[in-house]
Amino acid sequence: MKINILKGMYDVLPDDAAAWQLVEKTVRDVCNLYGFGEIRTPVLEKTELFERGVGKQTDIVKKEMYTFNDKGDRSVTLRPEGTASVVRAYLESGLGAQGEPVKFFYIAPMFRYERPQAGRFRQHVQFGAEYFGIKDPAADVETILLLLSIYDRLDIKYELNINNVGCGKAGCRDSIRDGVKKYFERNLPKMCDDCRLRYESNPLRILDCKKESCMEITEGFSGTGEISCPDCKQYYGEIKKLLDENAIKYSENPKLVRGLDYYTTFVFEVSASGLGAQNSVGGGGRYDSMVKDLGGSDVPAVGFGSGIERVILAMKSRNPGKQYGTKPKIFVVFQGEKAYKEMLPVLSYLRNGLNINACAVFGKSLKAQMRAANKSGAAYAFIIGDREIEEGRYKLKNMETGEEKEIRSGEIENLNKIFGVSI
Ligand SMILES: [Zn+2]
Ligand SMILES: [Zn+2]
Repeated sequence: MKINILKGMYDVLPDDAAAWQLVEKTVRDVCNLYGFGEIRTPVLEKTELFERGVGKQTDIVKKEMYTFNDKGDRSVTLRPEGTASVVRAYLESGLGAQGEPVKFFYIAPMFRYERPQAGRFRQHVQFGAEYFGIKDPAADVETILLLLSIYDRLDIKYELNINNVGCGKAGCRDSIRDGVKKYFERNLPKMCDDCRLRYESNPLRILDCKKESCMEITEGFSGTGEISCPDCKQYYGEIKKLLDENAIKYSENPKLVRGLDYYTTFVFEVSASGLGAQNSVGGGGRYDSMVKDLGGSDVPAVGFGSGIERVILAMKSRNPGKQYGTKPKIFVVFQGEKAYKEMLPVLSYLRNGLNINACAVFGKSLKAQMRAANKSGAAYAFIIGDREIEEGRYKLKNMETGEEKEIRSGEIENLNKIFGVSI
């Protein structure tokens, strides 16, 4: 009996891997331009890191973590999101110990034990960025610009939504909680079971509920920002001004809270077309208390995360049928005993000597080889038979036009020159 993949997991096959590589390369290139350095943290961390960093009351920590005891009987968890691990590493590394700004980016798999559905997996890969040490609206806007530049280069059509969710200061987040509770109090019997629990433990998450009946009730809520403290209002206002000045289009969504507890004052979410009802492709915000919550000093921070699976869905819906992979330039076709001996040396020469993407199939008839050459999408077929070797003339066939050129054995070194830029 064959062994199947685990539920909620997927394999990336070569055709798709080309799109993955493009996303990863774009993330690395753009992050590099913005001065963010790559950080790689372990997949496995102490469970406590996420309980304290992400929040015990979040759905992620309560329901979705892959948590187990290791052989030393320590509770460990497969990373369910990126930020807590990066904060831990930031603190342990001592970078930024003097209060200087530190900018990280990562590309890493996350694990959540949730019900698999379209575009949602139990292992999914996220890229993200975290910017420590600066509390200035320009840092928030620069972080958004980084994310949008990545999307622009990947040709994704998107919309930016922003909100002010209030901060941890007394009278700010607490008033927002009270305001939310007051608003939903009389409608509670009409709301879903989850929301009734959230009402007690984490009322802001009610605004996030995707159940139709709850969304209808949420419709009339005026928003979190209006209840926030004057500092939050001012900070948020300055961000909006900067977004305007930098011609970044956005919509305000006064109900946007994101699924995580750690955000303070400013959150944003980017939705993309082609993803269906759950159209969020990335998002983030400011989290000014997490570094302190995880044992550091008072270091402000802002960041984002974006799921690569959804980014690729958005890319593909915008450019249906687009091939992201590279095709071979030359398909080498062999016939005869002498040619058989030449196969590997010729391929090696093309690949290593001339840096040409070349391929071949072995143990097949001439006809089957030509068929394979066609299917591969190669630009040229290089035909080597015993007769060609004896006569010292080879055939190079342009697979698109059918045109054939004769190459003399002494000219093989010049293949690049013969075809100039086309090879
Ligand atoms: Zn506040
Ligand atoms: Zn609900």
